[in-house]
Amino acid sequence: MKTNQKIIEVIIVGGGLAGLTSAIHLSKFGIGVLVIEKKSYPKHKVCGEYVSNEVLPYLNYLGLDPFILGAKKIDTFLLSTPKNKMIKTALPLGGFGISRFTLDYELSKLALSNGVVILQDSVINIQFSEDQFEIITKNEEVFKAKIVIGAYGKRSAIDIKLDRSFIKNDAPFLAVKTHVTGVFPENVVALHNFKGGYCGLSKVEDDSINVCYITDFKSFKKYKNIEDFQKNVLCQNPNLKEIFENSIDVFPKPLTISQISFADKSPVENHILMCGDTAGMIHPLCGNGMSMAIRSGQLASQLIIRYFNGKIKSRLELETIYKKSWNSEFKFRLKVGRIVALLFKKYNFSDLMMSALKSFPKLLSNIIRQTHGKSLKAE
Ligand SMILES: Cc1cc2nc3c(=O)[nH]c(=O)nc-3n(C[C@H](O)[C@H](O)[C@H](O)COP(=O)(O)OP(=O)(O)OC[C@H]3O[C@@H](n4cnc5c(N)ncnc54)[C@H](O)[C@@H]3O)c2cc1C
Repeated sequence: MKTNQKIIEVIIVGGGLAGLTSAIHLSKFGIGVLVIEKKSYPKHKVCGEYVSNEVLPYLNYLGLDPFILGAKKIDTFLLSTPKNKMIKTALPLGGFGISRFTLDYELSKLALSNGVVILQDSVINIQFSEDQFEIITKNEEVFKAKIVIGAYGKRSAIDIKLDRSFIKNDAPFLAVKTHVTGVFPENVVALHNFKGGYCGLSKVEDDSINVCYITDFKSFKKYKNIEDFQKNVLCQNPNLKEIFENSIDVFPKPLTISQISFADKSPVENHILMCGDTAGMIHPLCGNGMSMAIRSGQLASQLIIRYFNGKIKSRLELETIYKKSWNSEFKFRLKVGRIVALLFKKYNFSDLMMSALKSFPKLLSNIIRQTHGKSLKAE
């Protein structure tokens, strides 16, 4: 083991959206930050790649303009069922389409140019004693820090070490993502329901269409492989059939992830401030996980700055305020997300739900509003 004696002000475990945005924010205020990220940039990620505009002013404040990178402006939401019942509505806030390959990479470059150190290694344990942290990595390095942000995504071996309760529960969902070339409107994010899940479609900066679906393991395991599942299940929805039959794959093979769960988590564990999916994951159906990750990174950063300049007097106060603010920002959204997901799960209900949405056109915009926040103040 190599123990680094220097005590770093903030170590961020995980360099995804929550980790990188908080690293950039903290570094703008002169705080020393080390990000430990297990993968190298740029990297593709299973994600619908539709970002809500609520984070646009904040991303601009951090120094990133997604439209310079070619992001597509998205203002319309389309929802369909396997029986081809369809509803289209304007998105209350709108958003943009950009690949995680580009977004995370650009944020990592921005962090580096701000003086953030990014280390490619995997954190295997985080310990806290005598008012400081020790972070142990797979490459047998030990780092010391005053503050640790946990931004390592939905699930990690660290959660087992921390004995977090959600890790003991079932995580029955899996997701598949690919990029294809074909015909699809640039300003639309579509959500096509199929038996056992839904598939999102939207365009990203290089004109590819992101095809990303989530389903439960029970529905998937009846089929031999992804192709078989897509052909027999997803293609029951004519909108998906059209895409799968008339587009060309960009990826050599689709990316997959499993063990997705939307269980309750705590935003503070063993004194670590948890951000993004590490603190709580909203159902992807709401298209808002990235904004939540970025917002929670902003929230943690703002409070850490106040802690370092003495306005927050103690670690206990820092943790208490973070927990309270996190719950008041996200608890309700997560709850609505879970309810919406449950309704979608009931295959027969989706047609019924569609009829209800068609009869009350404002209902859909309202549901979207409930799962999204207000536009973030740049600061
Ligand atoms: C199928 C699907 C579709 C989605 N579609 C959308 C969408 O269209 N719009 C939207 O807003 N949200 C969407 N989301 C949600 C969104 O992808 C997440 O909410 C978002 O990525 C969370 O960001 P994060 O920074 O918390 O985690 P991540 O982006 O997952 O980052 C975590 C990082 O930590 C690293 N890491 C993990 N463990 C360790 C370790 N031990 N040591 C070091 N590093 C580690 C990982 O490599 C990763 O880079 C979707 C999610 C899924 C599953």
